[in-house]
Amino acid sequence: MRIILLGPPGSGKGTQGVLIEQRYGFPKISTGDLLRLAVQKKSPLGMQAKAAMDKGDLVNDDIVFQLVAERMAMEDCKEGYVLDGFPRNMKQALMLEKLDCPHEVVLDIRLEEETLISRLSSRRICARCGNTYNLIVKPPGRDGSCDKCQGELVQRLDDEPAIIEERLEVYHRETEPLVVHYRKKDVYHRIDGNRDIEQVFNDIQSILEAEIKKNRQTEAVL
Ligand code: AMP
Repeated sequence: MRIILLGPPGSGKGTQGVLIEQRYGFPKISTGDLLRLAVQKKSPLGMQAKAAMDKGDLVNDDIVFQLVAERMAMEDCKEGYVLDGFPRNMKQALMLEKLDCPHEVVLDIRLEEETLISRLSSRRICARCGNTYNLIVKPPGRDGSCDKCQGELVQRLDDEPAIIEERLEVYHRETEPLVVHYRKKDVYHRIDGNRDIEQVFNDIQSILEAEIKKNRQTEAVL
């Protein structure tokens, strides 16, 4: 099963992606994480991506697709995977569709713009293990330090106010139009992200349980 998390930046895709991975065993693939790793390693691909990421713009489609396709081809993705942050425009959606997958589910987590901005500005990441916190909705036990590994909590450079604005603009221009595409394919589910993490995940579970059941029935017929 291919699960696509489609919400805007700050809607909780990463957090929900981890919960889906833990509950159903489908690995979460975050293109943002893959790109940040490539930048950190100073790989040629990462060096090309960095300038766009620093500005809050989208990285070149071919670069992102190369990264994500390599990850999806790994053994642990055979039964399915959760895509967090991909596709982000129509070209990427069409690239993804070339990789055949019989069962696709799109989960679009929606929040008001004001809440997104407040969430992104209060997001903190562990510099050591990458675990994500939010000073408002998911604060660490101890200020400035990761609950899991005691690493230092830092703010992502692209969570600065001017870059947040650009990322949201890019989202509205490039990513939001995908809703029409996935609605037409009849795989689209909109989720109210303006609630507790657990409540949002409850909705996701109900959708995924129904989809898994549908999948089993289809397989039984074939
Ligand atoms: P994220 O962690 O998903 O917010 O992504 C951080 C940044 O990585 C984005 O602002 C983009 O610069 C880049 N990025 C992540 N995913 C994609 C994608 N699918 N296409 C292009 N750029 C991406």
